Amino acid sequence: MTHDHDHPHDHHHDNDLDPFAARVKALETVLTQKGLIDPAAVDAIVETYEHKVGPRNGARVVAKAWSDPEFADWLARDATAAIASLGYTGRQGEHMQAVFNSPDTHNLIVCTLCSCYPWTVLGVPPVWYKAPPYRSQAVINPRGVLAEFGLVLPETTRIRVWDSTAELRYMVVPMRPAETEDLGEEDLAKLVTRDAMIGTGVALRPGALGPGALWPVTGADA
Ligand code: FE
Repeated sequence: MTHDHDHPHDHHHDNDLDPFAARVKALETVLTQKGLIDPAAVDAIVETYEHKVGPRNGARVVAKAWSDPEFADWLARDATAAIASLGYTGRQGEHMQAVFNSPDTHNLIVCTLCSCYPWTVLGVPPVWYKAPPYRSQAVINPRGVLAEFGLVLPETTRIRVWDSTAELRYMVVPMRPAETEDLGEEDLAKLVTRDAMIGTGVALRPGALGPGALWPVTGADA
């Protein structure tokens, strides 16, 4: 979604918007003209969901769990409280559960009914998360789904699928990559991708870090 208030009269660009974005922009313009909304407030909300309530929150939770065994233990027992202690609080009634990957078990989250997702730690869900093929195949053929994401796990690794609901939302704590003993929480967080916390990926290895490598946006996000 674009919110390009610096060029509100640039109708040539408006014509390039996809129909949904064009409708959102038209609606926003009408509401603004009627004095019902303040564009700055809309921008603040979008900014919040794109940058403050994004997967970086979850990445910090994971990095702290990797670095601090007591926090990891708390996260395993009461994820809602442990996550809230870092300042990430959800809407009322939203409870979090953290599921930890191990060499034996890989966790994958889905919402088979609709699109329940841990917004407070992962931000806005990717489009594929809400798509019927992901929602059905994650349960029927999780190994095949992971392969589509380029993740091939050993046959001996069990895959556990967790079905999110409006009341209980899951996040995956991926395994800490090798050769990260010397990294502090801030650098560790850079290795934790959104997909690793959904379970459709794993944490990056330090060697994978480079410009633009941290938060890869693929065609699947469009
Ligand atoms: Fe849902």
